[in-house]
Amino acid sequence: MIYLDNAATTRTAPEVVEAMLPYFTEQYGNPSAIYSLGSAGKKAINEARRTIAAAIGAKPEEIYFTAGGTEADNWALKAAAECCAGKGRHIITTKIEHHAVLHACGYLEKNGYEVTYLDVDRDGILDPESLKEAIRPDTVLISVMFANNEIGTIQPIREIGAIARERGILFHTDAVQAFGQVPIDVEEMHIDMLSASAHKLNGPKGTGMLYIRSGLKIRSFIHGGAQEKGVRAGTENVPGIVGFAAAVRRALSRMEEKAGRERELRDYLIRRIEGEIPYCRLNGHREKRLPGNVNISFRFIEGESLLIMLDMRGVCASSGSACTSGSLDPSHVLLAIGLEHEEAHGSLRMTLSEENTQEELDEVVGHLAEIVQRLRDMSPLYEDFMKSRRDRT
Ligand code: PLP
Repeated sequence: MIYLDNAATTRTAPEVVEAMLPYFTEQYGNPSAIYSLGSAGKKAINEARRTIAAAIGAKPEEIYFTAGGTEADNWALKAAAECCAGKGRHIITTKIEHHAVLHACGYLEKNGYEVTYLDVDRDGILDPESLKEAIRPDTVLISVMFANNEIGTIQPIREIGAIARERGILFHTDAVQAFGQVPIDVEEMHIDMLSASAHKLNGPKGTGMLYIRSGLKIRSFIHGGAQEKGVRAGTENVPGIVGFAAAVRRALSRMEEKAGRERELRDYLIRRIEGEIPYCRLNGHREKRLPGNVNISFRFIEGESLLIMLDMRGVCASSGSACTSGSLDPSHVLLAIGLEHEEAHGSLRMTLSEENTQEELDEVVGHLAEIVQRLRDMSPLYEDFMKSRRDRT
């Protein structure tokens, strides 16, 4: 098997599993308990909080554990909007956010908030000038993702944060794809809230966090016990939190080396595909993109068919039409960067890890060239296109 879907999820690293194990088997006490079996869990949570805070230049008390990125995004948007409702009810975000943000915005719109969805350019980058123009006296929250999960584009977060800070508007960033992959500093980047998720950086699934700058009065998201200072109740996922911290330690210790290796593999794969398969285009910015992200549209084919045929040859990747998420609509991200429906349907996302090899990528390019040609040979669109080309010459 060749695994090229690391933006969907990553393999839990062996050292992460090892760090988690004792909290299933021996240290299983409830962290709220007074006896030492419980306090071992509490200690591990506090230690994890310190590790994760340090990774983004935050204070430990600013980290709140959640059950993943989706929860963190929902909490940030709904709680911030509600807390600031007295000041205004206008939120600014972009058209290329993850559904965790977009659907939370949709919920807020149904509940009396107004949301501006900003356009991005053809590479998927937000122009800070367009953000400035969209700000109104009643704007209370700006939410712009750090890096896009489909096309890997990295946003000018520092500039966006500076604009928000200057105008006194809260700034949230969904850093689920960026955390552990690229350096993040919440102080330098003027970030007030940040979402992250463990399973994107070789940690366990179902564990994440929301950074909330101290001093922000954010309401409880889950009501119940006193865990997480009473704002996110529920017995803590101790093994998950411990695994998250182990994954963060691992990611930080090799960030530069890992990114360098992935960039090399990424650019090699892009070069070979562009050089060997006609009628394709790279989606997203060529340089300002996550080290492991390759997203390419192949004209005249269906991404879903391509995925199925790749799967039959042992290659795991993902497509730009959202069929896998239960809808036949093409990806909102690809449409937002100006692709036609047909091009968006024919796109393929391959997200690499440092464990992939050049030999694997050579194999994948071989499969791709063959499958794309086979699908085009069956495509009436391709036939028409070739005929019109012949007629022209
Ligand atoms: N935000 C982004 C940018 C993502 O890529 C994802 C997951 O793919 C999420 C949020 C949701 O995170 P989780 O899977 O931890 O709920």
